[in-house]
Amino acid sequence: MTNPANTTAPVRVAFVTGASRGIGRAIALRLARDGRHVVLSARSQGALEEVKGEIERAGGMASVAVADVSDSASITASIEKTIAELGRLDILVNNAGITKDGLALRMSDEDWNVVLSTNLTSAFIACRSAARAMMRGRFGRIVNIASTSGIVGNAGQANYAAAKAGLVGLTKSLARELGSKGITANVVAPGYIQTDMTENLPAEVKEKITGMIAVGRLGVVEDIASAVAYATSDEAGFLTGQTIIVDGGMTMA
Ligand code: NDP
Repeated sequence: MTNPANTTAPVRVAFVTGASRGIGRAIALRLARDGRHVVLSARSQGALEEVKGEIERAGGMASVAVADVSDSASITASIEKTIAELGRLDILVNNAGITKDGLALRMSDEDWNVVLSTNLTSAFIACRSAARAMMRGRFGRIVNIASTSGIVGNAGQANYAAAKAGLVGLTKSLARELGSKGITANVVAPGYIQTDMTENLPAEVKEKITGMIAVGRLGVVEDIASAVAYATSDEAGFLTGQTIIVDGGMTMA
């Protein structure tokens, strides 16, 4: 496989979790547009096939890897299959995530555990599998998608904020462990972005949130995809261990 933009450079393989819709789909479309072979991962095969079709119709390269990230065997197997089939793995974007909101005092163990395993443990498992192949290639770009909730906290999201803050610590540790091997690890922390995850917020809540955002609008998925495109590019080799907050100036944390 060679890169059409540069016949001597290899096509970078990017594995994106939660690529069936929302932010993950936008990241996949953007990385494909930038010449990556994108491996689309999520649980919904039909939706992933649609994204693959969209990428291929635009002249890009993609494949589908159905996996449930809350199941460590499932995510490990899909990353290992990718490496076996495509011979390399250069970019990993851990984007799959869920919310199970509720006040901490009333939160069930189940709602705590499922959010931690889907949003945090999954990223550790995927990074561990992917980093082995990245070390062999002496190149890697890891991006973990966190949230401003993990930076400043959010009432009703103790589980989600803890998982997202955990991603920051995980990412900084990986950056320190892997930097000398040509592998960078960064966090992209979105603010409020218009997706299925936020569409059920009442209109008055959306209006209140918009009032707190310096640029005066909610984010769109492409706002996050462009930050990920830079953090995963070859030219971002000196960017590591960072949290890039993409929130329109809401927190300025
Ligand atoms: P969506 O709910 O629109 O999409 C979530 C994605 O994650 C889907 O592709 C879904 O695929 C996948 N997913 C969920 N659970 C699993 C699982 N167990 N195994 C595999 N895939 C799974 O979310 P967004 O696009 O809004 O969010 C994407 C990321 O961005 C998340 O990590 C979220 O926390 C973060 N974020 C979003 C913000 C926003 O305002 N939207 C703000 C801050 C952070 P499927 O159901 O097919 O498995």
